Amino acid sequence: MKLLVSVPTGVYSNSVYLPYIWALLKTHLELNYNKNVDVTWLDPIFLKTHEASYCDIFLTSNYTWNWQENLELTRNVKKLNPNCYVIAGGPQVPFKDKKVFDLYENVDALCFQEGEQVLSEFLYRFTNNLDLDIDGIILKTNPNKTIKFAKKLNLNDCHSPWKYCFNDLMRFSKEIHSHTKRVVVALETNRGCPYKCSYCDWGMDITSKIRLVNEDIVFESIEYISKLQPDTITIVDANYGSFKHDLDYVKRIVKKKQETTFPESVIFFGAKNNKKLVNDCYKVLFDDGLIGMIQVSFNHTDTEVLKNIDRDIMRRDKFMEEMQESFMVGIPLVGFLILGNPGDTIEKWKTAWSDLLEMGFHEDIKVSDFFVLPNAPAAQPEYIEKFKIKTHIRNHADTFKNRDFVKGELIVESYSFSKEDFKEMQLISAFIQGTHILSITKFVAMALYHNKEVSYKTFYEDFMQFETIDSILCPVKEHLDDYMSDPDSIKFIKFQGVHVLYEDFIYLSCLKKLDSIYEELEKYLHIYFNPLLVTNLITFSKNSILNLNADGSAESNFHLDYDLRKYFKTLLTLPPTVQYDKDPVKKSTHILISDQRLGQKKEINFDKINNLDNIRDHVLRAPNFRHQTTYWL
Ligand code: SF4
Repeated sequence: MKLLVSVPTGVYSNSVYLPYIWALLKTHLELNYNKNVDVTWLDPIFLKTHEASYCDIFLTSNYTWNWQENLELTRNVKKLNPNCYVIAGGPQVPFKDKKVFDLYENVDALCFQEGEQVLSEFLYRFTNNLDLDIDGIILKTNPNKTIKFAKKLNLNDCHSPWKYCFNDLMRFSKEIHSHTKRVVVALETNRGCPYKCSYCDWGMDITSKIRLVNEDIVFESIEYISKLQPDTITIVDANYGSFKHDLDYVKRIVKKKQETTFPESVIFFGAKNNKKLVNDCYKVLFDDGLIGMIQVSFNHTDTEVLKNIDRDIMRRDKFMEEMQESFMVGIPLVGFLILGNPGDTIEKWKTAWSDLLEMGFHEDIKVSDFFVLPNAPAAQPEYIEKFKIKTHIRNHADTFKNRDFVKGELIVESYSFSKEDFKEMQLISAFIQGTHILSITKFVAMALYHNKEVSYKTFYEDFMQFETIDSILCPVKEHLDDYMSDPDSIKFIKFQGVHVLYEDFIYLSCLKKLDSIYEELEKYLHIYFNPLLVTNLITFSKNSILNLNADGSAESNFHLDYDLRKYFKTLLTLPPTVQYDKDPVKKSTHILISDQRLGQKKEINFDKINNLDNIRDHVLRAPNFRHQTTYWL
């Protein structure tokens, strides 16, 4: 009996996950399951270029980035063998929905929990013509059965799939690299999450007790993983840094990196509390160049909103105290917000932005739309009813270039905000990202906040009313209107013929009209600062971005009457939430920009950056790399 597993990776088309699900299932069936099952394992589908092949059983693992592709593969598999039995699993399958088989029309059964034991038992029964209607499975022939979960695995007994399937995985790794793509590996040290954030479906295992993989097996997996030459290891635990051994694991990864040069980077999702250990993990990885930033997921700062999304799980005071520690570690901190939370309003959204800026998140603040994942609490009818949620479906990607768009359903209205409010909130995010985060007004806003107690909210509300800004925002507003009304539209707007994010459009348009913006800003600042300091603040701001002269060259030196370089360095290194009320020191200063760079990286040839198209194409990056857009240090 030929068995084919499909787990294609899609969204980040340059990064491909090794087929962990396939390896888990094979390892469990052959080492843990106590009955003989006669199957021939075909090479799994893990690259987008892989095609369906003849098989008797087809298993698909579905998530946001591959479920559409899996449906297409399923159709093709059925063409090759109409009798092929198809089982779909993974978080993207809405197994509680009575109409699930309308969407998954060629699928014969669904697996709605971790697959190792359930599918092993299913395959045994399938090959022996026994009853297939077991716990953990819904058959198309019995779609209305009472859902019953099978007993969860004791992960302590499991073997390392990275060791057991090593030779095959090595072949797959080489295949991925031969396509000049990055190899990504999912390292799992535990399963489950005690929380139930409403937007999350963490492996359909939220609100559950954490089960640990045996420590020796994790260390063994790290050994074998490093031999696979992965570019990235993603630790897929829900709350990494909850256990003491988590620090030992990352130390082992660092050791392997020193020995083999792999991996290049590590991603993990830090525990919501217990930040001390999380920070220690970050520090170990940062010191060896395996991470470049820490993402701090606030999602919002308003109590009612956080309650609505079941995210009031962090003890606020303790969290802030521990965040100070993260800051002191010296790693760039990136704040993270979600747009579309029930309970949000325009005012609350502006305040959330202001809060994060006051805390000191000036390098980057990322925003995600609220995607309704099929098995998340937010997708359940009672949640939708309670918060009067309306959604729309759009093609989505985090950046335009080299990405596949995937269909996603996102919240655009709730009891507390209308679709018009939603548009305004989108605009506010793009505006602050395009102006503050990308440094057009970062330093001015910081001086106003620290020195004159003008909140970031007040400043950006005022700034948004500038005449020049209004002309820049007009096309974005029009685009947002289209985006809301046209189901085929995407949230990218063209700047000089090329699709960019809204915030990049705003940033580039500001560069185009920089003189008018700073002229208006100068008038505004006179209310607060003396004329000389105003001129200095504008000069400093102008030169802290890649400000091109008419001939396309970048400014290479400038003069100040105040020591603003020292002043802003002080502000940027203040611990979170600390306000600095001292005036900038008057001191004649000449700044020579000799060390042009993008954050900590220097791979850009600045001589070739001589127009806005170059800035758009080579300097601006995906949002998660925005902290690298600093022009000079
Ligand atoms: S977002 Fe994180 S903490 Fe919240 S339920 Fe999901 S995995 Fe758990």
